[in-house]
Formats: sequence, C-alpha cells, structure tokens
Amino acid sequence: MLAFLAATLLAPLPNSVLPSSGAAPLDARADMTMRPSRRAPGITVRIPDPAPAIVLPPISGPKDPKRPLVVIDAGHGGHDPGAINAEHGWREKDITLAIARAIRTELLKGGRFRVALTRDEDEYLILQERYGVARRLGADLFISVHADAAIANPQARGASIYTLSEVASDREAARLATRENRADILNGVDLSAQSSSVSNILIDLTQRDTMNRSAQFAKILEREAAPYMAFLSPAHRFASLVVLKSPDTPSVLLETGYISNDEDGTTIRSAAGQQRIARGVTQAITVYFARMAGR
Ligand code: ZN
Repeated sequence: MLAFLAATLLAPLPNSVLPSSGAAPLDARADMTMRPSRRAPGITVRIPDPAPAIVLPPISGPKDPKRPLVVIDAGHGGHDPGAINAEHGWREKDITLAIARAIRTELLKGGRFRVALTRDEDEYLILQERYGVARRLGADLFISVHADAAIANPQARGASIYTLSEVASDREAARLATRENRADILNGVDLSAQSSSVSNILIDLTQRDTMNRSAQFAKILEREAAPYMAFLSPAHRFASLVVLKSPDTPSVLLETGYISNDEDGTTIRSAAGQQRIARGVTQAITVYFARMAGR
C-alpha cells in the first residue's frame, strides 16, 4: 500500500492547466503541492491531479493576490439538473447558478474579496473538477451551493450546512450524500471512483486543519446567515460528500432550502430570496476572514 501511495504521489504531474482569459497565470506543478501554511508538520504531499484539463474560471474583484479568494460552486448543471420540482418544473441547477451569481455580486460590493465561480453557465462539471478549480486557483474558502429535496415529504423545508466526514451525522445526511454524489455517475460509470482510495489516505494525513476551518466556517455561517434564511435544527451536518474532499481548502456545502417544498422553492427561486441568502453568506465570510486574520 505504501509503495503504491508513494508511486502515485510522485508520479509526473500533468501540465495541462489552461487559464482562461482574465485568470491569473498559474504554475500547475507548484499548485499541486500543499501550500506550506496548510501543510501538516513534516509531511510533504503531492496531490495527484484530480481532473487534468480544467479550464480555470476568471477571478473577479481586487487584483491584490493577498485578498482572500472565495470559490463559489453552483451545484449540478448541463445534463445533470439536480433535484427537480416536477409540479412547477423547477430545477436545482438553475437555482444554484442564480444564487452563486448573487453571492458573487454581494461579495464584490465590499471590494475585500476575490471571487470565482466554478461554472457561470449551464454546464456540467464532475465533482472533482469543482474542488479542483478551487485548489488550482489557491482558494481560501470553497462553498458549494445546492437545494435539498424530499419528494416523499413535501412539507420538509429549511437550509442546512454540510462539512466533510466519512461518517454521516444521521440517515438523512447519508441519503443526501448518496444523492449529491450521484452527479458523477454517468451511464453507470462512476467518474469519481478512480482516485478515491488515494484521496481518502490524503484526507487522513493532512485534512485535520482544513476540517477544523470548515467546521468553524459552518458555525459562523449558521449564526450570521440566520437572520436571512431559515435553517434546520441542527443546521450543521456531516456527510461523505465528494465535492468537499479538497484536502487543503476549507469547504462547505450549503443546502439553501427544499426545492420540493412550495414555500422554500418560491423563496430560493426569487431574486429577493437569492439576495437574502447572498447577504447572509457574505456576512459570514466577512466574519470568518476577520477571525482568521486575527489568529
Ligand atoms: Zn444538489
């Protein structure tokens, strides 16, 4: 196992990162190494390239690279609509993109943060590309935006925040992980399976600090966004979500509400509802980075 791990980690890294116009030029090799401040003491780890040919999205906001970079991930897209409210024809992928854009707009207003979206159109990305974008851009925080669904229980409503754990906090969390991870299973082929054993080992070795930061942000998000959106109780849950598996980027998945519930769906589809979510998230991000700067 160790020989396998070493061989995998030391394998030549693909050099096929193609920054799109507006994105900062990046050294793909340097980017695959854990950044020193995030690295566990004494451990140098090279992460295998999760998805070789990602076109990196542009970064909006101040040009100063010292400004925190937040990557917002609009869940689903392209041939993967995510959850659907069949009665109204609402699709999760449309709602998540609108909310991601609203968060970007709100974050850019203060001029303090740099922002990139993993997708800015109706486009399909595998889950590893989503956190791969965040890693290669050197993101300081990754937020994946989703909408929940409970077809059998149309009364279910409320927002929740997920951080990574191999052990789900409850049955609902396990079910949600199964549903959200399904995005990578295309025509019966699991696109995420390839490097999962490697990423699990790396998670064990290096991810403790990242998990702590993710949990801190989740706590702050629940508190700061509470005036703007209704959370489930408890709001912070744990699940084995592939999109949260970046070993050195604090990451949360925000379920903004239930698309299967008429009231929640109406809110998260509306420009006003999306702006409230964006305000809450922005407030939480502001508090989180102020706290990080004070450490
Ligand atoms: Zn989703």
